[in-house]
Amino acid sequence: MKRIYMDYAATTPTHEEVVAAMQPYYNNIFGNPSSLHFFGREARKAVDEARLKVANFLNAKPEEIVFTSGGTEADNFALKGIAFTNRERGNHVITTKIEHHAVLESAQFLETQGFEVTYLDVDTNGLVNPEDVKNALTPQTTLVSVMHANNEVGTIQPIEEIAKIITDFNHEHSRSVYFHTDAVQTAGALNIDVQKLGVGLLSISAHKFYGPKGVGALFIKKGTRIKPFMHGGGQERRRRGSTENVPGIMGFGKAVEIVMKERENWVKHLEPLRNKLIEGILNIIPDSMLNGHPQKRLPNNINVTIKYVEGESMLLNLDLEGIACSTGSACSSGSLEPSHVLRALGRTHSESHGSLRFTLGRHSTKEDVADVLGVLPKIVTRLREMSPLYKKK
Ligand code: PLP
Repeated sequence: MKRIYMDYAATTPTHEEVVAAMQPYYNNIFGNPSSLHFFGREARKAVDEARLKVANFLNAKPEEIVFTSGGTEADNFALKGIAFTNRERGNHVITTKIEHHAVLESAQFLETQGFEVTYLDVDTNGLVNPEDVKNALTPQTTLVSVMHANNEVGTIQPIEEIAKIITDFNHEHSRSVYFHTDAVQTAGALNIDVQKLGVGLLSISAHKFYGPKGVGALFIKKGTRIKPFMHGGGQERRRRGSTENVPGIMGFGKAVEIVMKERENWVKHLEPLRNKLIEGILNIIPDSMLNGHPQKRLPNNINVTIKYVEGESMLLNLDLEGIACSTGSACSSGSLEPSHVLRALGRTHSESHGSLRFTLGRHSTKEDVADVLGVLPKIVTRLREMSPLYKKK
């Protein structure tokens, strides 16, 4: 059976050049980078080279990169690290209602520790209004965290504008409110320049752009007041104890190198496919609608609500036909709670349940899109015929 993978936002297949770059670090060059002997020095050199690549990728300095076990750890480090370290300056954190659980649940944890958190609303396209950030800033605020682009609906946020508001606030009130962005979904699609974005902290994760799983990084601008989150050895300039994941870090370094070379080509390839799939679904399937911003969206993201059907049923039927995608509720796997993101966009409970997300990648083809457009309407018709909701319409 032909299998079509359209869940690149969940994870991507590791690039063959990345696998090749990692291979020697499992056996030949196996030293612990903290060891002073030859084996250790070899590994240290490799980690330093990869750090430089990741720093160049973000337009940062190598000492501003802390390798982590992925996006979740980077987000936890940013939120908890900044909030606790700067507690005597204030106990208020601002974030949004559409963040990934790694940020949202860190924020909720902070609330249990006596911090106050403002969760900003978004508009019906999923956009944060920078004015809302401005209005939420108080003399108690120490951190603002707004994601670069949303993992479910693909909406890209006005990070530069928000950064400017925070910088102005800091100048006007002699404050140092830090600005963090979760860029886990954007590294393979958008140019990420921490200077241009104006952020003080930024999270990325290698497996979202053809790198290995279980490795990511937090960019921490020089001069940021942040205590370690993981206590242990003196690795990562004492900011994250634990022996470095040397093969993973080498794969990460290779993946950013490939992205820098290929990103423009990928975007050129993906945007027309994305548009074709969106238009096709909206034209062929009655009572379907796009979720997320029509223009300010990731080049590979298609998220639609198909009314009067369950997302889960569509997903399972598509899987039987060899097509892999995801739904608004499946990402918090097993949970029947509808997506907090779609609810924040103003979708009803049942509209959120009837959502499907297709995310494309470098192996996606026109034929794949045509196959989905051939199969999905039939599945929807069949499911609607069985749906009491549809009959009542
Ligand atoms: N942040 C966003 C926006 C994500 O999409 C994800 C993964 O889905 C994460 C954080 C977590 O990243 P990781 O899987 O590397 O822990």
